[in-house]
Amino acid sequence: MSDPDLFPPERLAAAQAATAAAGLDALLVTPGPDLQYLTGYPALVTERLTCLVLPASGPATLVVPRLERPAAEDSPAPRTGVRIVDHADGTDPYPLVVAALDGPPAAVGLADQMWALHSLGLAGALRGTTMRLAGPVMRELRMRKSPAEVAALAEAGAAIDAVHLRMGEWLRPGRTEAEVAVDIAAAIREAGHASVEFVIVASGPNGASPHHAVSGRVIGPGEPVVVDIGGAMPSGYRSDSTRTYVTGGGSPPAEFLAYYDVLREAQRAAVAAVAPGVPAHDVDAAARDLIAAAGYGDAFLHRTGHGIGLSGHEEPYIVAGEALALEPGMAFSVEPGIYLAGAHGARIEDIVVCTGNGVQRLNTIPTELVML
Ligand code: ZN
Ligand code: ZN
Ligand code: ZN
Repeated sequence: MSDPDLFPPERLAAAQAATAAAGLDALLVTPGPDLQYLTGYPALVTERLTCLVLPASGPATLVVPRLERPAAEDSPAPRTGVRIVDHADGTDPYPLVVAALDGPPAAVGLADQMWALHSLGLAGALRGTTMRLAGPVMRELRMRKSPAEVAALAEAGAAIDAVHLRMGEWLRPGRTEAEVAVDIAAAIREAGHASVEFVIVASGPNGASPHHAVSGRVIGPGEPVVVDIGGAMPSGYRSDSTRTYVTGGGSPPAEFLAYYDVLREAQRAAVAAVAPGVPAHDVDAAARDLIAAAGYGDAFLHRTGHGIGLSGHEEPYIVAGEALALEPGMAFSVEPGIYLAGAHGARIEDIVVCTGNGVQRLNTIPTELVML
């Protein structure tokens, strides 16, 4: 897939129109998923200021540290027509942002993930300017994925599926969670990811903690193990998928087997609920109602899903109270879980995309419990 498909230059014009419509004079975007989305430039997140100055109308400027100038020039950013301005170490970069604006702005939007170091630096250079979050503007642009973005997410989904299909090579009783995680991380890269973003191997009672990462715990025989893994592809787009396994050499607790079936039905129902026009909270309820009806409502500790793209977690959120109507191109996780403190837990997670008439799963491996 070529960069012009994934990072089309006309995004800057769309962002400028959205900036004007939001009553902002400019967006100030430091490195992170917003900058990559707008320019294709995966800039380093550092104490040195890199900042896209995108006025509501007129030319855009990319302020970069002098040593990063070659990287910025080699990125897709120049194709957007952005002008690159650099600053030397030891000089104050924030006045360059002011100079890139056509007079003092009344209100600007700062990238949500900007470091306080830079937001306060900009505030010092822009006294009298109202500072707001750029998030509401960027969310509207990033939430509906283009066909090229959906293809990039599908490529990420296939890559992480390939890792799950190899789990039996590594997940065995007698090994620690950390040992298994090292092997999984290597496989995530082998499958084509540029980086490993997280590896959760939560065995036995650790499975009851949704964001347990890994520990030195030795995995036992016949134990449920929640494995939630993801990375970023060279395109920048992310994978994120969970399967729950049972290790060999024993049988899992009977209650675990019983609620796993409930969870699988709930996950399938939530995926099936996805269609254009459906409020996000209905997808959450499709999973939650089945889990609650089986008596596990209090054990489903989190929302059903989150959007995914250049960020691991982004809009739309599939959560109670979120009335946002799904639209074609919205991509998000469907990941209900059941967590019994002190005992064990299970989660099943697929990335899906809302299509013109329903849903497409971007993780396509089965959701049946895998007994290794
Ligand atoms: Zn999570
Ligand atoms: Zn996950
Ligand atoms: Zn997730």
